Amino acid sequence: MMPLRRFQMHQPKSVKEAAEMLAHYGEKGRLYAGGTELLLAMKHDLLRYEHLVDVKTVPGLDKIEAQNSSLRIGSVATHRSIEKSPLVKERLPVMAEMTRYIANVRVRATGTLGGNIGFAEPHSDPATLLLALGAKATLQGQTGERSLAMNEIIVGAYETALAPDEILTAIEIPLPARSQRAIYLKFQIHERPVLGLALIVDVDASGNTITKAKAVVGAVSPAPCRSDKADALLVGPKDKVEKQLTDAARALADAADPVDDLEGSAEYKRHLIGVYLRRAFTQALASPLRNP
Ligand SMILES: Cc1cc2nc3c(=O)[nH]c(=O)nc-3n(C[C@H](O)[C@H](O)[C@H](O)COP(=O)(O)OP(=O)(O)OC[C@H]3O[C@@H](n4cnc5c(N)ncnc54)[C@H](O)[C@@H]3O)c2cc1C
Repeated sequence: MMPLRRFQMHQPKSVKEAAEMLAHYGEKGRLYAGGTELLLAMKHDLLRYEHLVDVKTVPGLDKIEAQNSSLRIGSVATHRSIEKSPLVKERLPVMAEMTRYIANVRVRATGTLGGNIGFAEPHSDPATLLLALGAKATLQGQTGERSLAMNEIIVGAYETALAPDEILTAIEIPLPARSQRAIYLKFQIHERPVLGLALIVDVDASGNTITKAKAVVGAVSPAPCRSDKADALLVGPKDKVEKQLTDAARALADAADPVDDLEGSAEYKRHLIGVYLRRAFTQALASPLRNP
């Protein structure tokens, strides 16, 4: 590992000031939160910046709050604070549970949700679950605010739709309805997941018919992915859907188009999609309705 090149740290007091600093330093500057990805990449000399803008000095960006039918998680909230938040545990247990298994406790104590999404590392757990939950990212730049869905903000491996002066300020997550069950499963051997799979299903009062489904697979390819065909095959009476799971997994794998990487071959990942979709389906139908 190389020694870190010299850089200057800047401490904005507002999002507006942070946006102005990013615009001012241009390609020589970068937003900095927990630094778990950024400083590592800089130590390896994979990224070079002369100015880091510390978003953690902006007050209020670490807030986690419930709104009418959604949960708003500030971008600077660490994984650890999300995992431990009584509000997240109560209102969106699937998010707290997913977060518990991100990295190790040292990374979770420092790494932030905004940094995870802002880096667009392909093996992100939150990106997969948040796409399934229909979450939106709030971005603020010099000229105003906008909101993007997860598949709009993460556009490829290490690639986001953030403008150079934009800061991700919060993630807004709609709370699942009472009739919905949300599951997130992952398979991991090394530091990052080989596969993450999120499944949200709407189940009728009898508990035997799925009226709506959304499956998302992540980590197997550059960005989390879903498939209309897979989701359609996951709807109907439980027994019928069970028989269609292999076809649904194939449709999801076709849409994701897994890649070979250090975590495994594309063929292996296709196999895992089948195994984990089946597991998620079984768990979703077995789990009680926990969401308020
Ligand atoms: C050993 C290890 C294991 C890991 N395992 C997992 C895992 O199992 N699952 C998983 O999902 N992740 C995993 N990660 C990734 C981890 O979640 C991220 O490192 C962390 O969330 C990044 O947050 P940060 O605050 O440290 O970001 P930083 O390193 O500070 O920043 C990362 C990038 O995001 C940008 N950024 C930061 N904040 C913002 C913002 N508010 N708006 C816009 N851009 C921003 C920065 O400019 C930079 O480009 C692992 C990381 C490590 C080092």
